[in-house]
Amino acid sequence: MTKSLSQSDLVAALEGIVGAKAVDDSDHARWTYALSEAWSTVSPGLTEELYLDLGPPDVIVKPKTTDHVVDIVKFANKYKIPIIPRGGGTGNASGSAALTSGGIMLDLLDMNAFIKYDPVSRACRFQAGITWGRLCYELKKFGLTPGFMGPHGIYGAAVGGGISIDSTGIQGTKYGQENENIQNLQVVLPTGEVIETGSLANTKTDWYFRYCNGPDLAGLFMGACGAFGIITEATLRTYPLPEYHSDFLYLFPSEMDQCKALTEMDSYELMSDYMGLAQGFQYAIIENVFNLEPGKTQKGPALIHTSAYDEVILERKNMMIEKIATKYKAIKFPGDPTNLGFGAHDTNEMLGGGVCKFFGGMLHKTCSVLPLMKCPEMNQWHYQFFKNPKILELLSTTELGNKCWSIQYPGGCKHGFVLHMSMFNMDATTRDLRTKAYKLWHEILKQKIELGTSPYWVGKDAFMPHLTKKFTPQYWNFLKTLKKTLDPNNIMNPGALGLGI
Ligand SMILES: Cc1cc2nc3c(=O)[nH]c(=O)nc-3n(C[C@H](O)[C@H](O)[C@H](O)COP(=O)(O)OP(=O)(O)OC[C@H]3O[C@@H](n4cnc5c(N)ncnc54)[C@H](O)[C@@H]3O)c2cc1C
Repeated sequence: MTKSLSQSDLVAALEGIVGAKAVDDSDHARWTYALSEAWSTVSPGLTEELYLDLGPPDVIVKPKTTDHVVDIVKFANKYKIPIIPRGGGTGNASGSAALTSGGIMLDLLDMNAFIKYDPVSRACRFQAGITWGRLCYELKKFGLTPGFMGPHGIYGAAVGGGISIDSTGIQGTKYGQENENIQNLQVVLPTGEVIETGSLANTKTDWYFRYCNGPDLAGLFMGACGAFGIITEATLRTYPLPEYHSDFLYLFPSEMDQCKALTEMDSYELMSDYMGLAQGFQYAIIENVFNLEPGKTQKGPALIHTSAYDEVILERKNMMIEKIATKYKAIKFPGDPTNLGFGAHDTNEMLGGGVCKFFGGMLHKTCSVLPLMKCPEMNQWHYQFFKNPKILELLSTTELGNKCWSIQYPGGCKHGFVLHMSMFNMDATTRDLRTKAYKLWHEILKQKIELGTSPYWVGKDAFMPHLTKKFTPQYWNFLKTLKKTLDPNNIMNPGALGLGI
């Protein structure tokens, strides 16, 4: 509960703003919202040795309008109550979970209106709680796509959550990350004031553009995990829906050849999506398909997705892909790899959730951005890491009896950068096993920071405790000064970005 207000007064005040149906402080709701995807099975109170003490919020509120958010923020400021904004709650770093100090969980999923498509600026405007599934559906009615189509397999994540976490994902290879497509943001600042960024800062303007009227203030709130304000509306570029698509699977002689070829294909903007596969459970499918001796090779398989608005253009693109693949001596799978149950254009939970189902556990992610050409080096580190008997001991056995882990780099970014991830199986059935898995996860996260990768998703846990140690004092000071200036009462998602704890 909050410092200077009884629980019943807190609930009554919030009900006065949004109505009784949109406020819930029952125990089951509070504990459900205490969890985010990150450690949904090991989170608050369920395991020891967490880097941060997470806890249930005092109350969950579901605003519908920007005015609701303004009134909630002003109220929270008056009583210095923390506010934790939440979209789909699928972020991997507990950004949308509360600290044990509680607070107001602001579930934004009811702020989901598709406001309009503006043919003048070819952009669309929506409330930030809209999900990727809904946004893609609404745009399809106009024959359009947002280009970047959200995180892999998570159509229930909110677009505002992705903005706040610098999401990379489906078709990021072709269109860039989500935030590269954002034109304007409407933000409720920690004081309750509302600002519009970019072209909309000028009250005379009714079209959308980002880089104008002074500094790019939208950028300040991107990847900020709600620590600097609550994004209530956003504008995103749109693109015509490509009509023609194809999928390929190539096997390169080595991981280095695979990365060189993919980098070259990326530089000519030939691919919409790709997925470089390294060792791990999916590699067994590759060994099977290409008749490789199990456990003996370290080749470089790559799934590639291409798309175009015109059949001939697609053919030309595919020819160039084939030419580059041949130059690097790749073997091509003779057929559509999606028939094998996997493809690079993953809108269907293959990467994260889907694979977990096969192995009867959880596969915890360590996604971070690095140049594609650095992947072979990063993979070598992982291979050594997973050979260590002490680490093997921490790995859970799957239902199939394997100690299961996997490494992939599924596009997500442009210009030769890629999101690199390793995942491992986790048995979550006992407190001891959860604690072991949590330790193992942190060991990988720590090492990935040491090796110089850049996490795109930050929050409260995950990379954050390791990353903040690597910032220069000047950078860290600047972040803290920003936080203090924007949020003097430290109500806005305390703990996010390692700030305001
Ligand atoms: C199986 C699986 C696969 C995934 N694959 C990917 C992937 O390919 N790429 C990727 O980027 N991520 C991936 N993720 C992680 C996650 O789905 C995405 O990062 C997603 O964009 C998070 O959106 P969300 O709405 O769930 O955010 P949440 O988890 O609800 O919130 C994320 C952060 O943003 C803050 N926040 C939320 N909404 C707002 C707002 N309106 N204003 C201010 N702050 C706000 C929260 O406080 C929190 O700090 C995956 C997750 C899973 C479970």
